Amino acid sequence: MPVIKPTCIRDMKLRISLVDVISRVATLRRAGSRFKGLCPFHHEKTPSFHVDPDKGFYKCFGCGKSGDIFTFVRETEQLSFSEAVEALGQRFSIPIEYEEGAGPTKEERSLRQELFDLHEVAADAYHQTFRSKSPAGDFMRRYWEENRRFDPALAEEFKIGAAPASDEGLVAALWRRNYSEEALRQCGLFFIRDEAALSVQALRPRFRGRLMIPIRDHQGRVVAFTARQTELTPVEDPAHEAKYVNSPETPIFSKSHLLFNLDRARTQVNDSQPFVLVEGQLDAIRCWSVGLKSAVAPQGTSITEQQLILLRRYHQVVECFFDSDSAGQKASLRFLPMALKAGLEARFLSLNGAEKVDPDLLFLDRGLAAYEELKKQSLSAIAFACKTLLAGSEQASPEQNSRSLRGLFEIVAASESEVVRAGFLAEIANHLRLPPTAIQRDFSVFHNRSGNQRPSDTAPSENPGSDFRSSGVVSSETTPEHHLLYLILHFESLGKGMTQFLPHAWIDTSHLAGTLLNRFMLEIEHDDWPGRDHLDGLIETSEERQLIASMLFDQPTVDDPGKIAAEGIRMMRQRALEPRLRKIELDLAGLRADSTVDPISLIKERTELLRQLREPIGLPGTA
Ligand code: ZN
Repeated sequence: MPVIKPTCIRDMKLRISLVDVISRVATLRRAGSRFKGLCPFHHEKTPSFHVDPDKGFYKCFGCGKSGDIFTFVRETEQLSFSEAVEALGQRFSIPIEYEEGAGPTKEERSLRQELFDLHEVAADAYHQTFRSKSPAGDFMRRYWEENRRFDPALAEEFKIGAAPASDEGLVAALWRRNYSEEALRQCGLFFIRDEAALSVQALRPRFRGRLMIPIRDHQGRVVAFTARQTELTPVEDPAHEAKYVNSPETPIFSKSHLLFNLDRARTQVNDSQPFVLVEGQLDAIRCWSVGLKSAVAPQGTSITEQQLILLRRYHQVVECFFDSDSAGQKASLRFLPMALKAGLEARFLSLNGAEKVDPDLLFLDRGLAAYEELKKQSLSAIAFACKTLLAGSEQASPEQNSRSLRGLFEIVAASESEVVRAGFLAEIANHLRLPPTAIQRDFSVFHNRSGNQRPSDTAPSENPGSDFRSSGVVSSETTPEHHLLYLILHFESLGKGMTQFLPHAWIDTSHLAGTLLNRFMLEIEHDDWPGRDHLDGLIETSEERQLIASMLFDQPTVDDPGKIAAEGIRMMRQRALEPRLRKIELDLAGLRADSTVDPISLIKERTELLRQLREPIGLPGTA
């Protein structure tokens, strides 16, 4: 944790007016040398909240809350002390000074500051384009209102923007402001044409012809963008196919540490209104538009532990509302143990009997009433897990039941609370109509056994080829594309490494798995992989959806996915390069003196092919 200098804190108290700080939240009226207003901390009809600007403190004679600028910001915005100091520094343009060696280095700090500033400017520029009478502005406003069916006022509230198809305006606007070369290189808004000295011409906007959604951190600062593909997205855009493109990770943006709309939602949660976790940013905006203001969404990736710990800081109950399709269910099941580990109480919103529930459409059609109905039918964490994992348990074989039970035990074990565990086990017993003592006994056995290592179903094999085939990696299909697709879905961290060893030309796109693999590798290459639970934007047909869903539902029992992936790539490489190699061998063998073919170049090509075929494929492990 960076330590802020005490002199800096004293200085801020002198320079920042308490009345200015409080006036953002409460209306104050002058009363002599003091100010009075309705208390922002408790409900009241006559003002008992007093502010003394000279002394720099406030006190409520109703509820007793009192403090200075820092306590006020901490309590109303749910920030830590140093976050409150930084937020105030940002708001009143006061540079924060850190103790020597305790904070980020001077360069890092000023780069971060520049990046925050640059993102505000960019968000403004995109928003102005959205509002402007220009082809891009007209189109995006129509798209917002007619295609997405959102209110224009909502675009103002979330500062929705438009990136024109050919945008030199943003480059020029940022260039004029004299940002450092480092800030322009690292902000993630541009592709840089060459590595030489930076010029206006070298900056090519990453986002073109897209609807721009500013992403704010929990302090409300714009740190990144999500860009929705539209008809204006140019075909030559390298990520043209991707429905959503995110800013890459930057010094101020880490996808796994950020939840969309948390800056607003955290001030809305209370005992009767917990957080609602939805899948996409536009889902969260839809919730907001109907008055469900505590919705947050992960940043185009699966939910992470860090995000849940962040949520836990503000409120301990979260209602999970994902798509009711199989990917959504799968995501919910993965979310559950993480939520328990983070100490969150999770509930699951679902509609009984509904085939498919899409949060966006549901709220669009029926508004807040739909939420009330969902809430009535919501399930506790373990009831949801039982329902999902024990579906059809009446007809299931004992082996299937014991596998489902193991899944449930894994979830139970994620909670550190004995009380929570006991409650869960009782509920499972109830579900299975078994005596609670039997379930408790089974759980103890499971828990003791899985103390250090998880039981594995397949013994590791020394032969990579047989490993590849017997790994449990899907049975009916045998193409390497199919296997690699399966691996990047279940071991997502493998994807990036695979892109380094697998050129697109080697992928056979004549079948479904190859088409999908090719598309996914492209996303991963551009750092736009949305995470396996958010593939909707990348899936185009129902066949594709079916294939992905069946793969996602499978429980992988793979010991060394990196090794298996390397074997798959090796097979594709052979398939791609060996025919040419054989042809060269034949040509060289049958070469006649009068041939026009140059043997030297053939030999060179053969050497190169042999080198490529022998090149080791070093994929990092995923453990
Ligand atoms: Zn009060």
